[in-house]
Amino acid sequence: MLLLSSLLTLAILLPLLVLAAEDYYKLLNLDKTASERDLKKAYRKLSRQYHPDKNPNDEAAAQKFVEIAEAYEVLVDTETRKIYDQYGREGVKQHQQTGRNPGQHHDPFDLFSRFFGGGGGGQRGQRRGPNMEVRIAVPLRNFYTGAEHQFKVEKQVTCDKCEGSGSEDGQRDTCARCHGQGMVIQKQQLAPGIFQQMQMQCDVCGGKGSTVKHKCRVCGGQRVKREEEEFEIAVERGMPMGVRVTYEGEADESPDWVAGDLVVQVVEKEAAIGELEEERLDGNFFRRKGNDLFWREVLSLREAWMGDWTRNLTHLDGHVVRLSRKRGEVVQPNAVQIVGGEGMPIWRHEEGPEFGDLVVEYVVVLPDRMDGGMEKEFQGVWDKWRKKKGVDLGRDAGRPEAKRSGHGEL
Ligand SMILES: [Zn+2]
Ligand SMILES: [Zn+2]
Repeated sequence: MLLLSSLLTLAILLPLLVLAAEDYYKLLNLDKTASERDLKKAYRKLSRQYHPDKNPNDEAAAQKFVEIAEAYEVLVDTETRKIYDQYGREGVKQHQQTGRNPGQHHDPFDLFSRFFGGGGGGQRGQRRGPNMEVRIAVPLRNFYTGAEHQFKVEKQVTCDKCEGSGSEDGQRDTCARCHGQGMVIQKQQLAPGIFQQMQMQCDVCGGKGSTVKHKCRVCGGQRVKREEEEFEIAVERGMPMGVRVTYEGEADESPDWVAGDLVVQVVEKEAAIGELEEERLDGNFFRRKGNDLFWREVLSLREAWMGDWTRNLTHLDGHVVRLSRKRGEVVQPNAVQIVGGEGMPIWRHEEGPEFGDLVVEYVVVLPDRMDGGMEKEFQGVWDKWRKKKGVDLGRDAGRPEAKRSGHGEL
């Protein structure tokens, strides 16, 4: 008999053990110090992530969706939260069964639609709010190395104090205009003595038949408020300029519609010399065109003509690209050098990173003025050599044969 009863207890205990599900705080990725705001934020994020509309045929996700709603509802209420912190789930369950408001347990979908309006994915014929577009500017080096960016968007959100009801305490009055009908009759005169009666939605209560008794103190009965929300974006290596990233259901919220999408356009920030070392790289001033980068390098007359120079370009991630010419190697003005593999990484390239080219254009700067002695010496050299080694400008320019000056120019 003793054995039987202990077996029975075991049988009762077992399913309980299996069901001893995750801690409510853990479920919401929060700790015990979480504020009401944290709770709401966590709920908004997770409920959307696990919504069955987004995870069709995924039992685990559906279960999680229900649990998140449960966790949220228990913790957002200061009374049940206190009980939960002391006695855990069992305590809350007992309280809900015996407490003042036993019907407190909501349908998780109901809770969700109070937050987001409609039914999640918007398949239920719900009106959809407008999309929102924002633009964020990211420095070129982040497109090169990849980076996480945080940005803030000010948008309309459903008031979380009243959960979009506009009411401080949930109490409602019968609408004074329509007397609870939601409709009013309007008389319109078509011609003298001829009236038309029209039934119209009550403009005071919006057809609900009742009005809020005490307006929510946070939103003033508007049901929505403006709030800054922080988002994160992963700028991927080589992401194209102007790429649009969609955050589903993150546009302006309203209890009357399913929020549209927030579309973030990622553009390039104009280069500027900053304080930080990484803001002082040559690479910040590269210009990007697709997968290629462009750079203009300045050479002196001596360097362009005589060679024997070196430049160390610091690339966007700080690595050095060396440009150089040996003595005697001439660089023509506006000559272009293509440095293979030093361009942008190719976005989402299948096997390993692949890069575009770095295109270097050389600009030659002549000295404005020459020292008197130097000028004389140069003049002597030109005179000595121009007849022998000169360039035939007429021929080099491809002009038709004409009377030539007889000697070339050095
Ligand atoms: Zn409110
Ligand atoms: Zn009314």
